Amino acid sequence: MNYKKQTSISSFFSETAEVPEKKKKTESQDQKKKYEDKRVRGWVSTWPMKFPGLVNTDRGMVCTFCRQFPALAGDTVMVTGCKSYRVESLCGHFSSQTHMRCVKAAAVQKRIEAGRCAGPLDQIVNKLGEHHYSLVKKLFNTAYCVVVNEMPFTTFPNLLKLQIKNGSDLDQLISYQSDKACARCVSLIN
Ligand SMILES: [Zn+2]
Repeated sequence: MNYKKQTSISSFFSETAEVPEKKKKTESQDQKKKYEDKRVRGWVSTWPMKFPGLVNTDRGMVCTFCRQFPALAGDTVMVTGCKSYRVESLCGHFSSQTHMRCVKAAAVQKRIEAGRCAGPLDQIVNKLGEHHYSLVKKLFNTAYCVVVNEMPFTTFPNLLKLQIKNGSDLDQLISYQSDKACARCVSLIN
């Protein structure tokens, strides 16, 4: 075996085809355009590793997190099925705020279903007295109810109002009567 050492891919090609640099560039651009025009896009088996929660279905690509919470996910093809098979679409979806919200909601649900609530909240709860612990527990139960039933965060203050009307002492948590507080609760549990 006496192969000449090849230092790079370009050195390999330069020996077999000496095409001027400019011409080569134009041709490769044309080829790329032709390739993009004719290309039949399809599923790439490694995508689920890069985009956790992504699955391929008969109706196209679907995000399992957003599908689990369609009300939080909003109007997105990743719930109904995306047939573009473009990595750009996936990058856009998997870095979006709505997707992140669904991932968090799924984590909250999983944790509560598993009967444990570990995380930053534990440290806060450990510092609370019994009365405040009870209040915070009611608050988080309400936030969980919103998330698990796929209701918009804006229903959170109304649910608190209802409980207060029914005799709850939740009115003591004055700064938590808003949809933003609901989002904060969800992120804390996560
Ligand atoms: Zn998603």
